Amino acid sequence: MVTTHAAMGAALSALLLPVSPRFAAVAALAAFCGGVFPDLDLLVGEHRRTLHYPDYYVLLSLPLAGLAVLRPLTATVATASFVAAAALHSVADAFGGGLAPEPWIRDDHRGVYCRARRRWVRPRHWVRWDGAPEDLALHGVLALVCIVAFDGTVQWLVVLSLPVSAVYTAVRRRLPEWAPWLLE
Ligand SMILES: [Zn+2]
Repeated sequence: MVTTHAAMGAALSALLLPVSPRFAAVAALAAFCGGVFPDLDLLVGEHRRTLHYPDYYVLLSLPLAGLAVLRPLTATVATASFVAAAALHSVADAFGGGLAPEPWIRDDHRGVYCRARRRWVRPRHWVRWDGAPEDLALHGVLALVCIVAFDGTVQWLVVLSLPVSAVYTAVRRRLPEWAPWLLE
């Protein structure tokens, strides 16, 4: 789920807390946004392809992280965190389910598109589908880390994302029946 990706980026930013609480908060907010960003291709373009770059985001995040270490400013830390979270999201999608409206059937080979190899990476089903119970559980754990580690905007965003995940998980298997237009 997009909420899991958002919380994952923000939770990892807690690793910066011992180094700099201020930059950790900046990184968490940027990572939350970066974790959401790839899934905006649900609205424009082709999902898990147009804004998902498991290869190029990773390559781009390395020099950006280096720059943030050498020049720790709000802008450099935020940019590096945003791209790193988008990279993590794109790679993590390969460990979920396929793109078909009923991913629990496992009849879709599309996990995430890799431009460098010009092909789809197959889904690994570690999280069986978006909105599976383990997806909600993972989001819950990551959200808890964020709620304990941060306050202010990040904490509120994560708290507000919890009911969204719960409702989505509750209705996900009914969506092909109730709202096929939404999945298309
Ligand atoms: Zn995605």
